[in-house]
Amino acid sequence: MNPVFADLPTTIFEEMSMRARETGAINLGQGFPDAGGPEDVRRAAADAVMSGNNQYPPMRGLPELRGAIADHYAAHQQLAVDSEREVVVTSGATEALAASILALVTAGDEVIIVQPAYDAYAPLVRQAGGIPRFVTTRPPGWTITAEMVETVITDRTRAIVLNSPHNPTATMLDGDELTLLADICVAHDLIAICDEVWEHLVFDDAAHRSLMTMPGMRERTVKIGSAGKIFSLTGWKVGWAIATPPVADAIAKAHQFLTFTTAPNLQTAVAYGLGKDHDYFTAMRAGYQRSRDRLATALGDSGFAVLPSAATYFLSVDLPASGIGIDDRDFAMRLVADAGVAVIPVSAFFESDPVTSIVRLCFAKADDVLDAAAERLAKARRTFG
Ligand code: PMP
Ligand code: GLN
Repeated sequence: MNPVFADLPTTIFEEMSMRARETGAINLGQGFPDAGGPEDVRRAAADAVMSGNNQYPPMRGLPELRGAIADHYAAHQQLAVDSEREVVVTSGATEALAASILALVTAGDEVIIVQPAYDAYAPLVRQAGGIPRFVTTRPPGWTITAEMVETVITDRTRAIVLNSPHNPTATMLDGDELTLLADICVAHDLIAICDEVWEHLVFDDAAHRSLMTMPGMRERTVKIGSAGKIFSLTGWKVGWAIATPPVADAIAKAHQFLTFTTAPNLQTAVAYGLGKDHDYFTAMRAGYQRSRDRLATALGDSGFAVLPSAATYFLSVDLPASGIGIDDRDFAMRLVADAGVAVIPVSAFFESDPVTSIVRLCFAKADDVLDAAAERLAKARRTFG
């Protein structure tokens, strides 16, 4: 068996969702909304199933979707993308990450990963023959400094994987971090693989900025997106990678032997959705921001120390600061078994030297679900304290 995968645990998201199903707990663990998703986008998919083409679409994605992705980034992020040569549609951001890493990383290449890190990055780097080199950020700011990155760079460093907005910390790279990361990538000739699946889920009037827009980065960035996140339809698994033409060509070559194509009807619907007016995106963000505030307030009122959440579907709770003296994994396991709420221990996002004091909660849920979960958490805090 392949040693990269054979000994890995099942992902924490699957594990906690399974525990929630077994126990009937409210699931604030795995990040998915409980609403149905925008009706018109789903209707566009249904229509495309019934009257559109259900055979293999072009390997790089339907031209209408690639065009819609380019138009969308021009309108929302002032980014010029060549839809013909720079876009590869994939089966979710997960496949875009896999294809990008397999295309760009070869045996012995070192790849910088910033912990806490989304769980797919390191196994994919290893499968490509690469060696992950970890940079570890710490709460409450989870800030990246130039020194942290410089110390792990060697002459074999090929790429850095970045995630902004960030899962699980709900932070975004700020202007200083983008500048220092761009400077480092240019100085050391690194490629940045930028996981930007949360780009539309930003709050408090913040704007997402891609590292790709920084000086010197246009040719050395792979920008990865996901319709699942943009349209609250996480099961759709329609994603994409955007890169300069030679890099996009290499990614397409990897994609053709991973999945080859992505469901054409869902691609049609995503193309439609990306063309929705700005008001849709503004209202979608405002809805999630309200949910964030509702859960944060309820938790704060019952004595939990909630860390700021600038983006994503997630907020975090600091356990020791909330008067809870057990670590994150113990807390999560006891909570799901005894209190009926599933959360994610943030230590699962580390390979080494983990932060064990924080749990992540998904607030992309209906008000009554959030209220019921907050009530159960309040009771649990008194018992676990
Ligand atoms: N990257 C990050 C940071 C994520 O949070 C997720 C899913 N939540 C993904 C990638 C995977 O996206 P997809 O479902 O489109 O494969
Ligand atoms: N990205 C989702 C989360 O962070 C989970 C995706 C998955 O289950 N692999 O909760």
